[in-house]
Amino acid sequence: MPVFRTYVPESLQNYNHLVYCHSSGHAAAVDPFDANHLVNVADAQSFKLTQIWITHEHGDHIRNLSELKARTGALVFAPEACKGKFEADHWLADGDSLSIGETHAEFWYTPGHTPGHGVYYLPGKTPELICGDTLFNAGVGNTRSGNVETLFTSIKRILERCASDTRIYPGHDYLLNNLNFALSLEPNLDIALEWVRDCTQQSPETRATTTLLDEHQFNPFLRLEDPGLIKALQNSGHDTSTLLSRFTALRQLRDRW
Ligand SMILES: [Zn+2]
Repeated sequence: MPVFRTYVPESLQNYNHLVYCHSSGHAAAVDPFDANHLVNVADAQSFKLTQIWITHEHGDHIRNLSELKARTGALVFAPEACKGKFEADHWLADGDSLSIGETHAEFWYTPGHTPGHGVYYLPGKTPELICGDTLFNAGVGNTRSGNVETLFTSIKRILERCASDTRIYPGHDYLLNNLNFALSLEPNLDIALEWVRDCTQQSPETRATTTLLDEHQFNPFLRLEDPGLIKALQNSGHDTSTLLSRFTALRQLRDRW
């Protein structure tokens, strides 16, 4: 479990993550929103921030990038498709490897939410995926500055490349809201109702994390072949002839919800 999640106060419901090495205590901060907050969290955990990893170019994911780099001297790693949007020390291409001490990760290029988006996969006994705004708990990122077909392809590739028990770490706390959207389509989806009940007992800080196995049970964007979901989309007048048309319909419905 070399990922430490922290909810960022006074943010846009952002989670930041610290990927760390047990033996050296070195850590990478992902998508720094608030440098003070991250430095305090790192101090409390006895981590030394030596790297910064960026998922994408949106302002709330690079907000305190320069400040955190100036304060820690950490090296910045970012998707090469973000070149020209901000400064980095290392630009990453799909399949590139990263290391923080003895913790290893792979960078995957996953455009769709934005043209520059990438995710960080930590393979191993308990695989973990830091997925920014590409894949959310019970949802996917919006495509207002991207493209829905590109996002569909990126999500498909993520599911093909990840072990099914991968734990996901999105960039925002949207689980409860997204579950309620799922229930607006399938009001009797028991598993989603159970998760909603649990969520109401949690705070953003204590929010449960999910695995891809969980997501396949309640994330509508991963359940494109579910007969109940297809029927709900047909009832709302959408084209459901292909997986992409169902994904696109869901994205449109979620945008208006
Ligand atoms: Zn974003």
